[in-house]
Amino acid sequence: MPEGPQVARYARLQSEVLAGKRVRADSPNGRSEDVAAAIDGLKLLGIEAIGKHLLYDFGKERYLHVHLGRFGNFDAGAMPLPEVRGILRLRIYTSKRWFELRGAIAIDLYDAERRAALEARIGPNPLDPDADPMRAYAKIHKSRSSIGMLMMDQSIVGGIGNIYRSEVLFMNRVHPLRLGTSIDRKTWRAIWKDLVRVMEHGAIHGRIVTTDPKDREKPAGAVRRTDRFYVYHRDGLPCRRCGTLVATAELGTRKVFWCPHDQPAPDGASAPHVRKRSAKSPSGSAQTSRLPKTS
Ligand SMILES: [Zn+2]
Repeated sequence: MPEGPQVARYARLQSEVLAGKRVRADSPNGRSEDVAAAIDGLKLLGIEAIGKHLLYDFGKERYLHVHLGRFGNFDAGAMPLPEVRGILRLRIYTSKRWFELRGAIAIDLYDAERRAALEARIGPNPLDPDADPMRAYAKIHKSRSSIGMLMMDQSIVGGIGNIYRSEVLFMNRVHPLRLGTSIDRKTWRAIWKDLVRVMEHGAIHGRIVTTDPKDREKPAGAVRRTDRFYVYHRDGLPCRRCGTLVATAELGTRKVFWCPHDQPAPDGASAPHVRKRSAKSPSGSAQTSRLPKTS
């Protein structure tokens, strides 16, 4: 699933190529024909990411709005246009470069009012240097939902997803089931600082790596796939810090991962059943338990 930094990266890479140019647009599978027709031939002023949403600014309060959802992604290349394959919702191109969009959950046109409503709806984004983390905290510390659920709520924090949620809670020794009301200001500031650091890294490199070199099996050189995370999809494997087997459970509709030793469970939470596995066997076995939503 594209997380905020990947969306921010799409905005930056496409802006470099398309901003200031007149673009052509079409919808080979027909589902976004009206949208494509409305922007075809217009000059694109710029592209910005708001949380996981992309807004293409065509001036005069006209915007193309794209939300990638869980499966949306872009392909890009040099002209000419490649042969149409798969369900191709939208193409945007110039005489030199093309971008193809597939799998997005929203492709529509926004005016200034809808843009403002979107901005008001999305919480502060760690990738935005002007974002105020205390705007998120104001909601978190009043909430009886778990911090694991709250961090996935885009109206509280914009742009973060499942990987960052698990990883940053581990870094700060916070169990995902702890209630928002139990998170103090200092802990939230530390969580935010880590979100900014790892999300900026993701936005620059286009790849999510959250581990410090000293915590990797291979500390030097290129980061191996298996060394990228502390807990995400590492259920049944030993914690990099203490050796306890990493646990997983469903929280909301997505799996969350944590170390039962480094992230002490709040009172009343039952101990997870974790079965040991080898690094090669797939994560998320039948052992997954379901955590209560606590909201
Ligand atoms: Zn641990």
